[in-house]
Amino acid sequence: MQGIVGQEGATDFLRRAIATDRLAHAYIFAGPPGVGKMTTARAFARALLCERADGEPCGECRACAKVDHETHPDLYVIGPQGRGRMIPVAVFRDPDTGEGLLHDLSLTPVESARKVALIDQAHAMTTATANCLLKTLEEPPPGALLILVTPRPDDLLETIRSRCHRVRFNALRPGILEEQLLRRGVEPGQARFLSLSSGGSLGRAIMMAEQEGLADLRRRVLELVLALSGRNICSSSARFVELVKQHAPELASGQPGMTAQSAARDTAEWLLDLVALFYRDVAVRQLGVEAELLSNTDVLEQIDRETRLSDTDIRTILDTIETAKERLRSNVTLDVAILECVSQIAEARARPAASSTGTSRSAR
Ligand SMILES: [Zn+2]
Repeated sequence: MQGIVGQEGATDFLRRAIATDRLAHAYIFAGPPGVGKMTTARAFARALLCERADGEPCGECRACAKVDHETHPDLYVIGPQGRGRMIPVAVFRDPDTGEGLLHDLSLTPVESARKVALIDQAHAMTTATANCLLKTLEEPPPGALLILVTPRPDDLLETIRSRCHRVRFNALRPGILEEQLLRRGVEPGQARFLSLSSGGSLGRAIMMAEQEGLADLRRRVLELVLALSGRNICSSSARFVELVKQHAPELASGQPGMTAQSAARDTAEWLLDLVALFYRDVAVRQLGVEAELLSNTDVLEQIDRETRLSDTDIRTILDTIETAKERLRSNVTLDVAILECVSQIAEARARPAASSTGTSRSAR
């Protein structure tokens, strides 16, 4: 299972399971979005179906090639579909004809020793789909192996969870993300920044790197914060909310079952995190740390300008952001949470440095 980064625990476990022929009938691959769960599931399927079958897919045989092109007759890849982004029961078993994945899995494999089904975003199964799957898990057809991939394993029925072996995937370390982004040609300053602001998700980091609008979004959010004064609190807050609403759909895309409200909340949290990351750099810079060690190396000038703030004020800004995120999670409305946050940041930034308590300052 080469090419999968930062998930040695999961890949070692799966490799051993194949090598010792101790395979479960069903697995749940659980972990944050964009950390390699589906990539690993495909590699695992490739290893299971490979004609040389020694725990590691050879990458050269006919079976390996067919898995890569998703044309292998013993491999099924299923995910959410339609506007609702759910997995309808008909995919598993058509109520009228009885056809579907579960019927196919009960047949003898065509070209390999087993049949493998990957169910991406398994939490998007409807109740009917989940109940249908449960019956299969209770009496698994010989030779069939199911992999349920999901960032939200707790949303699966307990009865399903208890019949699957869970394989855990971790958020990726910033160093790994940065290396992967650099390898994909992302410019170093941006790679550093994205590796620290994408919540350990390579998928999200790549998406952010690819969408020019999102790189620009960060610039606009920082501009907005750095222009805050006592006079423009309301308009700045309204502008922040507008940015959130504009970008919520793209940031939420690919996450089934997410409502407009939770997408907006997630987006707001992410934008607030960007601001926090910036002010953490300001705090670090005040200690005289070199520019190369910052997260936002590309906005050094703005960071250095903000070092005029006292460390108390910077702490206030960081605390204010944390509070706003908590309030959003406890369902305070977006407008209210952002207005309060923006006005407190404006207040902290407007305080004359001399009147603040902490006065540690960089010696520059
Ligand atoms: Zn092979």
